[in-house]
This record gives sequence, structure tokens and C-alpha cells, in this order.
Amino acid sequence: MLSRTNEIIRSVTEIHLATRFTDPPFSVREFSKYYPAFQFQASTDLPAGIDGQLVVQDGRNYVFFRKGQSHVRNRFTICHEVGHAFLHVEEEAFKCDAVEHRGRDYFLHRPIKEQEADFFAAELLVPLPMLDRFVLDDLNTVKEKEHQELVRVLAEKFMVSKPCMQLRLEDLNDIRRTTAGRGVYLKRA
Ligand SMILES: [Zn+2]
Repeated sequence: MLSRTNEIIRSVTEIHLATRFTDPPFSVREFSKYYPAFQFQASTDLPAGIDGQLVVQDGRNYVFFRKGQSHVRNRFTICHEVGHAFLHVEEEAFKCDAVEHRGRDYFLHRPIKEQEADFFAAELLVPLPMLDRFVLDDLNTVKEKEHQELVRVLAEKFMVSKPCMQLRLEDLNDIRRTTAGRGVYLKRA
């Protein structure tokens, strides 16, 4: 777990409240309305291996994302760069590769600021309390085929890639483990 987890969730929650985000998918357009200091632009000039770039200039945040990349991947990249703008204000520029399509191990070996921006993007696009509303079954008992279908449907609903949704479902399962048994305490009270 990242040491800034709570701070990141707090920032993301502020954005969700400001943009009145109550049902997926999260809208980057709505975000731009409420946060006019951000400007998003597709670019054909990003170096190989770079999917997104943040440039902070005169109090404005310019976010560039790779033209031609899939829509869901660009959404993740954009939210990742927004994360840098909120969390790492001491720096003026970031060049990033988007990794929403890679596995957990890859995430964990990235520099800490990249991990923080990844987590920010995942929370912004797929907040766990909201995901929880759409997953009624116990994920540990869902069969493989049904699980794949669940990943597909939810990835579409939240407009993220399937690997990104897969990781979010794993996170949800972890959280549920720590909140398991809450009904028992409620009954006793
Ligand atoms: Zn980054």
C-alpha cells in the first residue's frame, strides 16, 4: 500500500464531489468544466514509449496524450497526468508511459510517483465503493467464465481497459476481505 493512499483518495473524492460523479463512466469533459486550469490535447509528437505528458506553465496544466491510442487507454493516461498535477506540484513536467494494460508486478516496480499517479487514475475512473455497487456476487465463488464476462461488462461500463478492471476487482476483493463480517456487528448493535 502506498504511504499517500489516504491523501490520494481524499483528492479523488474531492474531484468526484465537484464533478457530481455518481454513475460511471467518469467524464473527462465534466472534469474540464470544473477544473478550467487543465487543458487536454491529443499529440502525434510524443517520443516512442511515452503515452502522456504533463507540462505545468503559468498555473496551467497542459496534458498531452498519444493520438491513435485506444480511447480507454487515453482516458487512463489523462487521469494519470491529472494525478501528477494534484500530487506532485513541485515538478513542472512529466513524461509517462501508461501501464493500465500491464500486470500488477509491473505497477509495483515503477518509481513511487508513477505508482501514485497510477493509483490516482484507477481511483478516479473506478472508485471502489462505486464498483462495489455493481458486483453483487462474492468474487471468490464466481466461475472463471463468469468472471471474464464480469470484467468485460464492467470495463465497458466504467470505460477502462479489461486489465485495468481486472486489477480493480482484485482490489475490491481485498477490501471486502477486511470489511467481511460487518453484518455481524450490525446485528449485535
Ligand atoms: Zn507518470
